[in-house]
Amino acid sequence: MTDNLLEIKNLKKYFPIKKGLLLREVGQVKAVDDISFSIRRGETLGLVGESGCGKSTLGRAIIRLYEPTAGEIQFNGADFLRAKGSNLRKIRKDIQMIFQDPYASLDPRMTVGQVLTQPFEIHGLLNSQQRLDRVKDLLQIVGLKASHVNRYPHEFSGGQRQRISIARAIALEPKLIIADEPVSALDVSIQAQILNLLKDLQQKLKLTYLFISHDLSVIEHLCDRVAVMYLGKIVELAPREQLFSNPEHPYTQALLAAIPRVAEGKKQIKKSLAGEVPSPINPPPGCTFHPRCAKKMDVCGLKIPDLKNHSAMTHDHRTACWLYQPHEKES
Ligand code: SF4
Repeated sequence: MTDNLLEIKNLKKYFPIKKGLLLREVGQVKAVDDISFSIRRGETLGLVGESGCGKSTLGRAIIRLYEPTAGEIQFNGADFLRAKGSNLRKIRKDIQMIFQDPYASLDPRMTVGQVLTQPFEIHGLLNSQQRLDRVKDLLQIVGLKASHVNRYPHEFSGGQRQRISIARAIALEPKLIIADEPVSALDVSIQAQILNLLKDLQQKLKLTYLFISHDLSVIEHLCDRVAVMYLGKIVELAPREQLFSNPEHPYTQALLAAIPRVAEGKKQIKKSLAGEVPSPINPPPGCTFHPRCAKKMDVCGLKIPDLKNHSAMTHDHRTACWLYQPHEKES
């Protein structure tokens, strides 16, 4: 068995744009555009980028909430996109998702007990007494009380609701959890508690995480490796220390420069990234970052750079940028 729990190859998710009375397809939004990467067992891979870069779509395509347009998803050695019957059910049980908004992701008409019993009902696991016992265990594992079982979501704070979502995600003892901005809707004071809970659960339950966030300080706190996404593509992928100490891609460098840091007792002024993310309906040719890149060259607007390793010293650090790849100089 390989070290990789998840292997994604050339994954695409395009959404059709339809117009007119006959709803003819007039274009496509390339939200995820030919992405390949893997996640190792037990690691936390961070996926970071500005809003609209496609990171949430990628998370949803991996779990098949959005059916991928093309590509391959190998999970634990099995072909997820072609799996059927009991194999498909097993993979679905092993990959769970935590969403950003714990208000929207919990049905307000269901008690916490009903919410947490649902995964066992769907998969036909345990009898009713065993389900109740397991639900009470789950509540305690995530830092709530067994006596909360008959309460409704509105009776909890935002942080407690996210704990309930986490309890639902771990109910079936999954191998991989895709956490999509799990703390960005919460007060800053609560964020650290939820991040620490996720870290504890990872150790206790041997979980692997894909952690999606726009917030690089959260990514730095939690992740082993980091993938930076821009306009449907991964532009840099590296171990956390390398990405934060030696970012190669100009987009990653700009994102890091925009993190407010406390230096010599004074808060640095937050520098913003120039310009807006272009529309994924009509992305710029070549490197899609070129309209915003201070280091762009002639080749950048003509050819798409591959995501590649550029140094024998750092085999695990890959970047899609012509600054590091041989190319013909344009006249
Ligand atoms: Fe900038 Fe060119 Fe690198 Fe794109 S390929 S990030 S435009 S230098």
